[in-house]
Amino acid sequence: MSDPAALIAEARTHLGGPPGPLRVGRDPVNLPMIHHWCQALDDQNPAYLDEAFAAGSRGHLIAPPGMMQTWTMDAPRGPEHTGSNDQVNRLLDEAGYTSVVAVNYEHEYLRELRLGERISVRSTAEDLSEEKKTALGLGYFTTVKHEYVTDDGEVVCIARMRLLKFKPPAKAPEVGARPTPAVGRDSKFFWDGVEAGELRIGTCNACKTLHHPPQPICRACESTDMGWTVSSGKGVVYSHVTHHYPKLPGVELPHTVLLVELEEGVRLVSEWATGAKPDQTFVGQQVQVAFTPVPGGELRPTFKVAP
Ligand SMILES: [Zn+2]
Repeated sequence: MSDPAALIAEARTHLGGPPGPLRVGRDPVNLPMIHHWCQALDDQNPAYLDEAFAAGSRGHLIAPPGMMQTWTMDAPRGPEHTGSNDQVNRLLDEAGYTSVVAVNYEHEYLRELRLGERISVRSTAEDLSEEKKTALGLGYFTTVKHEYVTDDGEVVCIARMRLLKFKPPAKAPEVGARPTPAVGRDSKFFWDGVEAGELRIGTCNACKTLHHPPQPICRACESTDMGWTVSSGKGVVYSHVTHHYPKLPGVELPHTVLLVELEEGVRLVSEWATGAKPDQTFVGQQVQVAFTPVPGGELRPTFKVAP
């Protein structure tokens, strides 16, 4: 493998070099796509949509300027990758900066577009930063200049996209330990129960209403005389969702979160004893409490499929 510093130095020689091949938009500027855009963004500007209004102002409809990239979005790409931007990206890849994330995107509109105009785009590598340390890893910021042109070569928009090309982390960070629950006077019985292998549900001693999560006052009768009862631990999956991103301390991803309705009638948020099972989780599934250690070793009430 070549020396990364030499590859970066070579990438710099391409800055401001020739643009890649002109990519020609598949369809000309057209009203159906404008209708979709305006509907999606709830933009009712009559200059885009109302022919009578347009006739009395510019004399014709125009396209929303922000749609510029859509006119070339599906423009076919040729087999040759000879432009300066292609070269910079190739050299950054070879140097190990293979991941990419867009940072910002600026448009400068030089004139309005009319229906029927065909738009093409050409791209030039314009700038390459020094190596930067970012939250994603070590990387280089690149600026690519996109010029949008009509069939007769008039530049109608100049866009600059800034990207971060970075080295992907060598390996996923450790899962770490699950944060310790904040145990207070009102919830101590619950966590003592977990240690004892019991699922304890806060219960009003005055009116016998069950409450979860634990709380200091009864929602039904406002008594503060609160005790607890031991749940059978039997219930059904009331709802579920599987979390894929972002990473959380002490959570192996993907992570299936369960909302379990206990047969006593209260619901609690929990998880599978055996880790995520997004494809095998369904509403109404019969489950039974288990007490299993989470990353870090602490016991938590979890659930397994009822026998
Ligand atoms: Zn009560």
